[in-house]
Amino acid sequence: MNRQFDFLMPSVNFFGPGVIAKIGDRAKMLNMHKPLIVTTEGLSKIDNGPVKQTTAALEKAGVDYVVFTGVEPNPKIRNVQAGKKMYQDENCDSIITVGGGSAHDCGKGIGIVLTNGDDISKLAGIETLDNPLPPLMAVNTTAGTGSELTRHAVITNEKTHLKFVVVSWRNIPLVSFNDPMLMLDIPQDITAATGCDAFVQAIEPYVSVDHNPITDSQCKEAIQLIQTALPEVVANGHNVEARTKMVEAEMLAGMAFNNANLGYVHAMAHQLGGQYDAPHGVCCALLLTTVEEYNLIACPERFAELAKVMGYDTTGLTLYEAAQKSIDGMREMCKLVGIPASIKEIGAKPEDFEMMAKNALKDGNAFSNPRKGTVEDVVKLYQKAYDGIY
Ligand code: NAD
Repeated sequence: MNRQFDFLMPSVNFFGPGVIAKIGDRAKMLNMHKPLIVTTEGLSKIDNGPVKQTTAALEKAGVDYVVFTGVEPNPKIRNVQAGKKMYQDENCDSIITVGGGSAHDCGKGIGIVLTNGDDISKLAGIETLDNPLPPLMAVNTTAGTGSELTRHAVITNEKTHLKFVVVSWRNIPLVSFNDPMLMLDIPQDITAATGCDAFVQAIEPYVSVDHNPITDSQCKEAIQLIQTALPEVVANGHNVEARTKMVEAEMLAGMAFNNANLGYVHAMAHQLGGQYDAPHGVCCALLLTTVEEYNLIACPERFAELAKVMGYDTTGLTLYEAAQKSIDGMREMCKLVGIPASIKEIGAKPEDFEMMAKNALKDGNAFSNPRKGTVEDVVKLYQKAYDGIY
Protein backbone atom coordinates (compact mmCIF):
# COMPACT_ATOMS: atom_id res chain seq x y z
CA MET A 1 0.00 0.00 0.00
CA ASN A 2 1.36 3.38 -1.03
CA ARG A 3 0.88 5.50 2.12
CA GLN A 4 2.41 8.73 0.80
CA PHE A 5 0.63 9.82 -2.36
CA ASP A 6 -0.46 12.79 -4.46
CA PHE A 7 -4.04 12.98 -5.72
CA LEU A 8 -4.73 14.75 -9.01
CA MET A 9 -7.94 15.58 -10.91
CA PRO A 10 -9.47 18.62 -12.65
CA SER A 11 -10.49 21.44 -10.32
CA VAL A 12 -14.09 21.58 -11.60
CA ASN A 13 -16.11 18.59 -12.85
CA PHE A 14 -19.71 18.84 -14.05
CA PHE A 15 -21.63 15.58 -13.86
CA GLY A 16 -25.17 14.57 -14.80
CA PRO A 17 -27.94 14.87 -17.39
CA GLY A 18 -28.03 18.36 -18.95
CA VAL A 19 -24.75 19.79 -17.58
CA ILE A 20 -23.50 20.62 -21.09
CA ALA A 21 -25.70 23.75 -20.96
CA LYS A 22 -23.22 25.24 -18.46
CA ILE A 23 -20.27 25.29 -20.85
CA GLY A 24 -20.86 28.77 -22.27
CA ASP A 25 -20.76 30.46 -18.89
CA ARG A 26 -17.76 28.44 -17.82
CA ALA A 27 -15.90 29.44 -21.02
CA LYS A 28 -16.58 33.08 -20.15
CA MET A 29 -15.36 32.57 -16.57
CA LEU A 30 -12.11 31.20 -17.99
CA ASN A 31 -11.77 34.19 -20.35
CA MET A 32 -11.96 31.93 -23.41
CA HIS A 33 -12.61 34.26 -26.35
CA LYS A 34 -12.05 31.87 -29.24
CA PRO A 35 -11.62 28.21 -28.29
CA LEU A 36 -10.58 25.57 -30.83
CA ILE A 37 -13.16 22.78 -30.54
CA VAL A 38 -11.29 19.51 -31.10
CA THR A 39 -13.47 16.60 -32.24
CA THR A 40 -14.09 13.89 -34.84
CA GLU A 41 -15.86 14.40 -38.13
CA GLY A 42 -18.51 11.83 -37.16
CA LEU A 43 -19.44 13.60 -33.93
CA SER A 44 -19.56 17.01 -35.63
CA LYS A 45 -22.25 15.74 -38.02
CA ILE A 46 -24.73 14.36 -35.47
CA ASP A 47 -27.90 16.52 -35.36
CA ASN A 48 -28.23 17.99 -31.88
CA GLY A 49 -25.23 15.79 -30.92
CA PRO A 50 -22.39 16.64 -28.50
CA VAL A 51 -20.67 19.14 -30.81
CA LYS A 52 -23.88 20.93 -31.78
CA GLN A 53 -24.94 21.16 -28.12
CA THR A 54 -21.52 22.54 -27.15
CA THR A 55 -21.50 25.18 -29.90
CA ALA A 56 -25.13 26.15 -29.15
CA ALA A 57 -24.22 26.80 -25.49
CA LEU A 58 -21.15 28.82 -26.53
CA GLU A 59 -23.22 30.90 -28.97
CA LYS A 60 -25.82 31.57 -26.27
CA ALA A 61 -23.04 32.92 -24.05
CA GLY A 62 -21.60 35.00 -26.92
CA VAL A 63 -18.33 33.03 -27.12
CA ASP A 64 -16.75 32.72 -30.59
CA TYR A 65 -15.20 29.35 -31.60
CA VAL A 66 -13.69 27.32 -34.47
CA VAL A 67 -14.28 23.58 -34.98
CA PHE A 68 -11.39 21.24 -35.85
CA THR A 69 -12.75 17.84 -36.97
CA GLY A 70 -9.44 16.15 -37.78
CA VAL A 71 -9.26 13.68 -34.85
CA GLU A 72 -8.82 10.03 -35.91
CA PRO A 73 -9.33 7.11 -33.47
CA ASN A 74 -5.96 6.39 -31.80
CA PRO A 75 -5.03 10.02 -32.63
CA LYS A 76 -1.91 10.45 -34.72
CA ILE A 77 0.89 13.05 -34.65
CA ARG A 78 -0.47 14.36 -37.98
CA ASN A 79 -3.81 15.15 -36.24
CA VAL A 80 -1.99 17.09 -33.52
CA GLN A 81 -0.04 19.08 -36.11
CA ALA A 82 -3.15 19.86 -38.20
CA GLY A 83 -4.96 21.05 -35.06
CA LYS A 84 -2.03 23.24 -34.05
CA LYS A 85 -2.03 24.86 -37.50
CA MET A 86 -5.74 25.66 -37.30
CA TYR A 87 -5.34 27.05 -33.77
CA GLN A 88 -2.61 29.42 -34.98
CA ASP A 89 -4.25 30.33 -38.32
CA GLU A 90 -7.52 31.18 -36.55
CA ASN A 91 -5.88 33.03 -33.62
CA CYS A 92 -7.51 30.78 -31.01
CA ASP A 93 -6.77 31.30 -27.32
CA SER A 94 -8.00 28.05 -25.72
CA ILE A 95 -9.12 24.46 -26.42
CA ILE A 96 -12.38 22.54 -25.85
CA THR A 97 -12.25 18.82 -26.61
CA VAL A 98 -15.54 17.10 -27.49
CA GLY A 99 -15.47 13.32 -27.80
CA GLY A 100 -13.93 10.24 -26.28
CA GLY A 101 -10.31 9.62 -25.39
CA SER A 102 -9.14 10.27 -28.94
CA ALA A 103 -10.50 13.85 -29.01
CA HIS A 104 -9.24 14.65 -25.48
CA ASP A 105 -5.76 13.25 -26.15
CA CYS A 106 -5.51 15.03 -29.50
CA GLY A 107 -6.58 18.30 -27.83
CA LYS A 108 -4.01 17.81 -25.08
CA GLY A 109 -1.43 17.06 -27.80
CA ILE A 110 -2.29 20.30 -29.62
CA GLY A 111 -1.88 22.21 -26.37
CA ILE A 112 1.43 20.46 -25.70
CA VAL A 113 3.00 21.33 -29.07
CA LEU A 114 1.77 24.94 -28.86
CA THR A 115 3.68 25.61 -25.65
CA ASN A 116 6.29 22.88 -25.19
CA GLY A 117 7.94 22.33 -28.56
CA ASP A 118 6.88 20.97 -31.90
CA ASP A 119 8.11 17.37 -31.67
CA ILE A 120 5.61 15.69 -29.35
CA SER A 121 7.25 12.27 -29.61
CA LYS A 122 10.29 13.71 -27.79
CA LEU A 123 8.02 14.60 -24.85
CA ALA A 124 6.91 10.99 -24.20
CA GLY A 125 7.40 10.03 -20.55
CA ILE A 126 6.53 11.33 -17.13
CA GLU A 127 6.53 15.07 -16.22
CA THR A 128 8.40 16.19 -19.33
CA LEU A 129 6.40 19.42 -19.83
CA ASP A 130 7.97 22.72 -18.72
CA ASN A 131 5.13 25.06 -19.72
CA PRO A 132 1.38 25.19 -19.11
CA LEU A 133 -0.99 24.29 -21.96
CA PRO A 134 -3.56 26.87 -23.19
CA PRO A 135 -6.78 26.77 -21.09
CA LEU A 136 -8.44 23.41 -21.78
CA MET A 137 -11.96 22.09 -21.07
CA ALA A 138 -13.08 18.54 -21.93
CA VAL A 139 -16.62 17.48 -22.91
CA ASN A 140 -16.67 13.73 -22.56
CA THR A 141 -18.85 11.57 -24.83
CA THR A 142 -17.78 7.98 -24.06
CA ALA A 143 -17.72 6.03 -20.78
CA GLY A 144 -14.87 5.56 -21.23
CA THR A 145 -11.25 6.32 -20.98
CA GLY A 146 -11.34 8.93 -18.22
CA SER A 147 -9.09 11.11 -20.38
CA GLU A 148 -11.27 14.15 -19.61
CA LEU A 149 -9.84 13.91 -16.07
CA THR A 150 -6.37 12.53 -16.51
CA ARG A 151 -2.80 13.69 -16.92
CA HIS A 152 -2.22 11.32 -19.86
CA ALA A 153 -2.11 12.13 -23.56
CA VAL A 154 -1.86 8.96 -25.67
CA ILE A 155 -0.68 9.66 -29.22
CA THR A 156 0.26 7.29 -32.08
CA ASN A 157 3.33 7.86 -34.20
CA GLU A 158 1.94 6.92 -37.62
CA LYS A 159 5.44 6.27 -39.02
CA THR A 160 6.64 3.81 -36.37
CA HIS A 161 3.12 2.54 -35.38
CA LEU A 162 4.06 3.10 -31.75
CA LYS A 163 1.65 4.61 -29.24
CA PHE A 164 3.37 6.80 -26.71
CA VAL A 165 2.12 8.63 -23.62
CA VAL A 166 2.93 12.13 -22.38
CA VAL A 167 2.10 12.04 -18.66
CA SER A 168 2.03 15.41 -16.91
CA TRP A 169 -0.10 17.27 -14.38
CA ARG A 170 -0.10 20.09 -16.95
CA ASN A 171 -2.30 17.95 -19.25
CA ILE A 172 -5.21 17.80 -16.79
CA PRO A 173 -8.14 19.79 -18.22
CA LEU A 174 -9.27 22.75 -16.09
CA VAL A 175 -12.91 21.64 -16.34
CA SER A 176 -14.56 18.34 -17.33
CA PHE A 177 -18.16 17.78 -18.45
CA ASN A 178 -19.73 14.34 -18.14
CA ASP A 179 -23.29 14.51 -19.43
CA PRO A 180 -24.85 11.06 -20.01
CA MET A 181 -27.44 12.58 -22.37
CA LEU A 182 -24.59 13.07 -24.87
CA MET A 183 -23.94 9.33 -24.82
CA LEU A 184 -27.34 7.83 -25.62
CA ASP A 185 -26.57 7.24 -29.31
CA ILE A 186 -23.15 5.66 -29.00
CA PRO A 187 -23.26 2.54 -31.24
CA GLN A 188 -23.46 -0.79 -29.39
CA ASP A 189 -19.93 -2.00 -30.26
CA ILE A 190 -18.36 1.30 -29.15
CA THR A 191 -20.44 1.23 -25.94
CA ALA A 192 -19.10 -2.26 -25.17
CA ALA A 193 -15.48 -1.44 -26.03
CA THR A 194 -15.35 1.86 -24.13
CA GLY A 195 -17.20 0.32 -21.15
CA CYS A 196 -14.66 -2.52 -21.02
CA ASP A 197 -11.88 0.08 -20.98
CA ALA A 198 -13.48 1.61 -17.87
CA PHE A 199 -13.74 -1.92 -16.35
CA VAL A 200 -10.02 -2.54 -16.97
CA GLN A 201 -9.21 0.91 -15.58
CA ALA A 202 -11.01 -0.03 -12.37
CA ILE A 203 -9.16 -3.36 -12.07
CA GLU A 204 -5.56 -2.45 -12.99
CA PRO A 205 -5.21 0.35 -10.36
CA TYR A 206 -6.67 -1.98 -7.69
CA VAL A 207 -3.81 -4.46 -8.15
CA SER A 208 -1.20 -1.80 -9.10
CA VAL A 209 1.86 -1.38 -6.90
CA ASP A 210 0.85 2.31 -6.59
CA HIS A 211 -2.66 1.83 -5.20
CA ASN A 212 -3.77 3.85 -2.19
CA PRO A 213 -6.87 3.87 0.08
CA ILE A 214 -8.72 6.47 -2.01
CA THR A 215 -8.11 4.73 -5.32
CA ASP A 216 -9.08 1.38 -3.75
CA SER A 217 -12.53 2.65 -2.83
CA GLN A 218 -12.96 4.27 -6.26
CA CYS A 219 -12.06 1.02 -8.02
CA LYS A 220 -14.47 -1.09 -5.94
CA GLU A 221 -17.38 1.27 -6.54
CA ALA A 222 -16.59 1.52 -10.26
CA ILE A 223 -16.44 -2.28 -10.66
CA GLN A 224 -19.82 -2.77 -9.00
CA LEU A 225 -21.45 -0.05 -11.09
CA ILE A 226 -20.02 -1.47 -14.32
CA GLN A 227 -21.07 -5.02 -13.51
CA THR A 228 -24.73 -4.06 -13.66
CA ALA A 229 -24.74 -1.01 -15.91
CA LEU A 230 -22.47 -2.12 -18.78
CA PRO A 231 -24.56 -5.10 -19.96
CA GLU A 232 -27.65 -2.88 -19.60
CA VAL A 233 -26.31 -0.07 -21.81
CA VAL A 234 -25.08 -2.57 -24.39
CA ALA A 235 -28.60 -4.05 -24.44
CA ASN A 236 -30.29 -0.63 -24.59
CA GLY A 237 -28.22 2.48 -25.23
CA HIS A 238 -31.15 4.75 -24.32
CA ASN A 239 -31.31 3.50 -20.74
CA VAL A 240 -30.50 6.86 -19.10
CA GLU A 241 -30.07 5.42 -15.62
CA ALA A 242 -27.53 2.84 -16.80
CA ARG A 243 -25.71 5.43 -18.96
CA THR A 244 -25.51 7.68 -15.87
CA LYS A 245 -24.06 4.83 -13.79
CA MET A 246 -21.48 4.16 -16.52
CA VAL A 247 -20.43 7.82 -16.47
CA GLU A 248 -20.05 7.68 -12.69
CA ALA A 249 -18.00 4.49 -13.00
CA GLU A 250 -15.74 5.80 -15.74
CA MET A 251 -15.04 8.96 -13.70
CA LEU A 252 -14.18 6.90 -10.62
CA ALA A 253 -11.93 4.60 -12.65
CA GLY A 254 -10.32 7.61 -14.37
CA MET A 255 -9.53 9.24 -11.03
CA ALA A 256 -8.20 5.90 -9.72
CA PHE A 257 -5.75 5.24 -12.54
CA ASN A 258 -4.75 8.90 -12.77
CA ASN A 259 -3.31 8.39 -9.31
CA ALA A 260 -2.56 4.65 -8.92
CA ASN A 261 -1.50 3.97 -12.54
CA LEU A 262 -2.26 0.88 -14.65
CA GLY A 263 -0.35 -2.25 -15.65
CA TYR A 264 0.53 -4.74 -18.37
CA VAL A 265 -3.00 -4.77 -19.86
CA HIS A 266 -2.59 -1.16 -20.97
CA ALA A 267 1.13 -1.50 -21.74
CA MET A 268 0.36 -4.43 -24.08
CA ALA A 269 -2.89 -2.95 -25.45
CA HIS A 270 -1.00 0.17 -26.60
CA GLN A 271 1.11 -2.07 -28.84
CA LEU A 272 -1.97 -3.70 -30.40
CA GLY A 273 -3.58 -0.27 -30.91
CA GLY A 274 -0.42 1.19 -32.47
CA GLN A 275 0.34 -1.77 -34.76
CA TYR A 276 -3.14 -2.65 -35.96
CA ASP A 277 -5.07 0.62 -35.31
CA ALA A 278 -7.63 -1.40 -33.32
CA PRO A 279 -10.16 0.15 -30.86
CA HIS A 280 -8.43 0.71 -27.51
CA GLY A 281 -11.22 -0.75 -25.35
CA VAL A 282 -11.30 -3.96 -27.40
CA CYS A 283 -7.51 -4.33 -27.12
CA CYS A 284 -7.72 -3.94 -23.33
CA ALA A 285 -10.62 -6.37 -22.95
CA LEU A 286 -8.85 -8.98 -25.10
CA LEU A 287 -5.84 -8.91 -22.75
CA LEU A 288 -7.58 -8.50 -19.39
CA THR A 289 -8.15 -12.07 -18.24
CA THR A 290 -4.85 -13.40 -19.59
CA VAL A 291 -2.77 -10.69 -17.91
CA GLU A 292 -4.63 -10.75 -14.59
CA GLU A 293 -4.42 -14.54 -14.37
CA TYR A 294 -0.66 -14.12 -14.81
CA ASN A 295 -0.61 -11.36 -12.15
CA LEU A 296 -2.57 -13.42 -9.63
CA ILE A 297 0.42 -14.86 -7.71
CA ALA A 298 1.82 -11.33 -7.10
CA CYS A 299 -1.10 -10.27 -4.87
CA PRO A 300 -3.61 -13.12 -4.39
CA GLU A 301 -5.29 -11.34 -1.47
CA ARG A 302 -6.11 -8.37 -3.70
CA PHE A 303 -7.66 -10.64 -6.32
CA ALA A 304 -9.61 -12.52 -3.63
CA GLU A 305 -10.98 -9.15 -2.41
CA LEU A 306 -11.94 -8.31 -6.00
CA ALA A 307 -13.91 -11.57 -6.18
CA LYS A 308 -15.93 -10.48 -3.14
CA VAL A 309 -16.45 -7.00 -4.66
CA MET A 310 -17.82 -8.78 -7.74
CA GLY A 311 -20.33 -10.63 -5.57
CA TYR A 312 -18.76 -14.08 -5.33
CA ASP A 313 -19.23 -16.02 -2.09
CA THR A 314 -15.68 -17.12 -1.31
CA THR A 315 -16.48 -18.82 2.00
CA GLY A 316 -14.62 -22.11 2.35
CA LEU A 317 -12.39 -21.48 -0.68
CA THR A 318 -8.60 -21.40 -0.51
CA LEU A 319 -6.93 -18.05 -1.18
CA TYR A 320 -6.09 -19.01 -4.76
CA GLU A 321 -9.53 -20.46 -5.45
CA ALA A 322 -11.07 -17.21 -4.23
CA ALA A 323 -8.63 -15.11 -6.27
CA GLN A 324 -9.41 -17.15 -9.38
CA LYS A 325 -13.10 -16.24 -9.03
CA SER A 326 -12.24 -12.61 -9.87
CA ILE A 327 -10.73 -13.78 -13.17
CA ASP A 328 -13.98 -15.67 -13.87
CA GLY A 329 -15.87 -12.39 -13.28
CA MET A 330 -13.64 -10.50 -15.73
CA ARG A 331 -14.04 -13.20 -18.41
CA GLU A 332 -17.81 -13.27 -17.93
CA MET A 333 -18.11 -9.49 -18.43
CA CYS A 334 -16.07 -9.49 -21.65
CA LYS A 335 -18.13 -12.37 -23.04
CA LEU A 336 -21.48 -10.86 -22.01
CA VAL A 337 -20.85 -7.63 -23.93
CA GLY A 338 -19.55 -9.33 -27.07
CA ILE A 339 -15.77 -8.89 -26.94
CA PRO A 340 -14.20 -11.20 -29.56
CA ALA A 341 -12.41 -14.35 -28.46
CA SER A 342 -8.89 -13.68 -29.75
CA ILE A 343 -6.48 -10.88 -30.69
CA LYS A 344 -6.43 -12.65 -34.10
CA GLU A 345 -9.71 -10.85 -34.78
CA ILE A 346 -8.05 -7.43 -34.65
CA GLY A 347 -5.27 -8.53 -36.99
CA ALA A 348 -2.56 -9.57 -34.50
CA LYS A 349 0.27 -11.67 -35.98
CA PRO A 350 2.52 -13.96 -33.91
CA GLU A 351 5.64 -12.70 -35.77
CA ASP A 352 5.04 -9.27 -34.16
CA PHE A 353 4.77 -10.57 -30.59
CA GLU A 354 8.46 -10.27 -29.65
CA MET A 355 8.75 -6.69 -30.91
CA MET A 356 5.47 -5.75 -29.19
CA ALA A 357 6.56 -7.44 -25.94
CA LYS A 358 9.83 -5.45 -25.89
CA ASN A 359 7.95 -2.20 -26.45
CA ALA A 360 5.25 -3.08 -23.90
CA LEU A 361 7.89 -3.48 -21.18
CA LYS A 362 9.10 0.06 -21.98
CA ASP A 363 5.57 1.55 -21.85
CA GLY A 364 5.07 3.74 -18.75
CA ASN A 365 2.12 1.59 -17.64
CA ALA A 366 4.32 -1.49 -17.25
CA PHE A 367 6.12 -0.14 -14.17
CA SER A 368 3.09 -0.30 -11.87
CA ASN A 369 2.15 -3.89 -12.82
CA PRO A 370 2.20 -6.09 -9.70
CA ARG A 371 4.22 -8.90 -11.34
CA LYS A 372 7.53 -8.16 -13.03
CA GLY A 373 7.82 -10.08 -16.30
CA THR A 374 10.41 -10.77 -19.00
CA VAL A 375 10.04 -10.32 -22.76
CA GLU A 376 9.42 -14.08 -22.97
CA ASP A 377 6.61 -13.84 -20.40
CA VAL A 378 4.91 -11.05 -22.36
CA VAL A 379 5.27 -12.94 -25.65
CA LYS A 380 3.50 -15.89 -23.96
CA LEU A 381 0.72 -13.57 -22.80
CA TYR A 382 0.16 -12.31 -26.37
CA GLN A 383 0.18 -15.94 -27.57
CA LYS A 384 -2.40 -16.92 -24.95
CA ALA A 385 -4.67 -14.04 -25.96
CA TYR A 386 -4.16 -15.18 -29.57
CA ASP A 387 -5.12 -18.79 -28.77
CA GLY A 388 -8.40 -17.56 -27.25
CA ILE A 389 -9.70 -16.05 -24.02
CA TYR A 390 -12.98 -17.99 -23.64
P1 NAD B 1 -12.69 7.26 -29.35
O1 NAD B 1 -12.54 8.59 -28.73
O2 NAD B 1 -11.63 6.82 -30.31
O3 NAD B 1 -14.12 7.18 -30.03
C1 NAD B 1 -14.47 6.01 -30.75
C2 NAD B 1 -15.53 6.35 -31.79
O4 NAD B 1 -16.74 6.67 -31.13
C3 NAD B 1 -15.17 7.58 -32.64
O5 NAD B 1 -15.46 7.29 -33.98
C4 NAD B 1 -16.08 8.67 -32.11
O6 NAD B 1 -16.40 9.63 -33.07
C5 NAD B 1 -17.31 7.86 -31.66
N1 NAD B 1 -18.08 8.51 -30.59
C6 NAD B 1 -17.57 9.05 -29.46
N2 NAD B 1 -18.57 9.51 -28.69
C7 NAD B 1 -19.73 9.26 -29.33
C8 NAD B 1 -21.09 9.53 -29.03
N3 NAD B 1 -21.46 10.12 -27.89
N4 NAD B 1 -22.04 9.15 -29.93
C9 NAD B 1 -21.67 8.54 -31.09
N5 NAD B 1 -20.38 8.26 -31.42
C10 NAD B 1 -19.43 8.61 -30.55
O7 NAD B 1 -12.82 6.12 -28.23
P2 NAD B 1 -12.34 6.08 -26.72
O8 NAD B 1 -12.32 4.65 -26.36
O9 NAD B 1 -13.12 7.00 -25.89
O10 NAD B 1 -10.84 6.63 -26.77
C11 NAD B 1 -9.78 5.80 -27.16
C12 NAD B 1 -8.46 6.55 -27.12
O11 NAD B 1 -8.22 7.06 -25.80
C13 NAD B 1 -7.29 5.65 -27.45
O12 NAD B 1 -6.37 6.33 -28.28
C14 NAD B 1 -6.68 5.35 -26.08
O13 NAD B 1 -5.31 5.04 -26.15
C15 NAD B 1 -6.91 6.65 -25.37
N6 NAD B 1 -6.93 6.57 -23.90
C16 NAD B 1 -6.54 7.67 -23.24
C17 NAD B 1 -6.53 7.69 -21.87
C18 NAD B 1 -6.06 8.91 -21.15
O14 NAD B 1 -6.11 8.97 -19.92
N7 NAD B 1 -5.59 9.92 -21.85
C19 NAD B 1 -6.96 6.56 -21.15
C20 NAD B 1 -7.39 5.45 -21.85
C21 NAD B 1 -7.38 5.47 -23.23
